[in-house]
Amino acid sequence: MAGRFAVCSRCKARVSGASMADGSVRAPRGWKRDQSDALVCAKCWRTAFVLRAVTIPVSGPIPEASRAEEIGGHAAIEESWRALRAALRSGWGACTRVANWAVRELAKSEPPRTGDRLGPRPHAYLYPGARSLAPELGTASVVALLHAVEGKYGKERFDAIWLCARSLPSYRYPTPLPIGGRNVTVAENAGVFSIAVPFGADDSLQRFALRLRGGHNYARALAALRHVVSGAGKIAEVVFLEQDAQASDHRAGAERRDPGGAPRRATRIMAKIVLWLPVQTRDRSGVLYVRTAKDALLTWCSVADTKGAELGDEAATVYPYNADHVRRWVAEHRSRLQRASDDLKREKRWPKAVREAQVAAREPWVEKFHRRMDSLTHEASAMIARIADGRKVATVIYDDSERRYVDSFPWHALKTKMQYKLEGLGIEFRESTTCPTDVAGATPAEPSTSGGPRLERSGSARRSRGASGSAKATRTRS
Ligand SMILES: [Zn+2]
Repeated sequence: MAGRFAVCSRCKARVSGASMADGSVRAPRGWKRDQSDALVCAKCWRTAFVLRAVTIPVSGPIPEASRAEEIGGHAAIEESWRALRAALRSGWGACTRVANWAVRELAKSEPPRTGDRLGPRPHAYLYPGARSLAPELGTASVVALLHAVEGKYGKERFDAIWLCARSLPSYRYPTPLPIGGRNVTVAENAGVFSIAVPFGADDSLQRFALRLRGGHNYARALAALRHVVSGAGKIAEVVFLEQDAQASDHRAGAERRDPGGAPRRATRIMAKIVLWLPVQTRDRSGVLYVRTAKDALLTWCSVADTKGAELGDEAATVYPYNADHVRRWVAEHRSRLQRASDDLKREKRWPKAVREAQVAAREPWVEKFHRRMDSLTHEASAMIARIADGRKVATVIYDDSERRYVDSFPWHALKTKMQYKLEGLGIEFRESTTCPTDVAGATPAEPSTSGGPRLERSGSARRSRGASGSAKATRTRS
């Protein structure tokens, strides 16, 4: 029998592939199907799509119109909320059960510590066991969950199994429920976005239409979803999470009660939507230098590399993003934790229950602080991406070696967010620890080659400086 070939719909590369039951060709390793179901090879895929994730609160299920007519609108909404809560509880419970089981199975498959180094991870095929443990989960959910668990286990394996320096990862209820993107659809109706999601096992699917929150807080996330609605992007996966609700989150929608008679807590349902978005293509040239500074969170300046262009004041101007509120947040958070832990010192001899309650009371602050930092790093990286896009630069060179401005900050998260946002726009992201823009600390206004931005490392900049002769560093801050 002649071999079947998988052909890339873009570059026409051919790779022999196995036939599937329905006669089509199985996608070779690393290949994917695009939004119109055409095969794309790994190389073309990387140049055409970027993976992004957006997290949006679910504001509620949309009851079926026929049901609303039958029992009345309000009752139909109540009914669909009940069904949705039950489906999510069952899904989160199953995910928690499978995740913890899978970690134990992975650990069991490890041989005892012998020799002088940790061997490769023994192969463990967990899928059949996971299916029988949680028949209420769909195939795609089980595969995605096991993938996530094995990934986390692989990262912590050295510390947990070999060094015995930490315990095995454990999963607390509610472990996020992943749903494969294949059967998820997105719709936009008069600016309101909704997703249709199947929950449950493959043979007893329960479909829900869920309305997503709108408003300016989610403008970026919804703009990403609009690519899916228009057919340019594709949903890879939707993960449902439960998050503690703040008093200000109206329409929280769910509630949870921890064991031991704990008070009811209002929670809200979040949908983390993982999508493939098209890489945007634009004519770009030039470099934007971005670096962290001693007196601002970020500073940037751009250099045009058009031949013969004057490196004018505008190009050499250093712009700061001060973000004073970050310093305040970090300081407040630290002092609050410090004050709380002072009260817990052993000599105060609190009863165990009091101590536990005080420790538990910290959890919401810590979570809130992390969420604040998460949105701040998103905003700051989006700002840099917007600036780079607006100036049509081809490359962003980033240097975050100066970290004194805030002494406890998720620098790595800021960098990775900046990187993927820029790559999504088709802008190259380069890291440099010897970033040539020592502009933030440069002595200003010396019309000589040493007074301006030190840009020796950039060929384009050298050209520009040769043309203009005097690059003046206009400092916007003193
Ligand atoms: Zn290709």
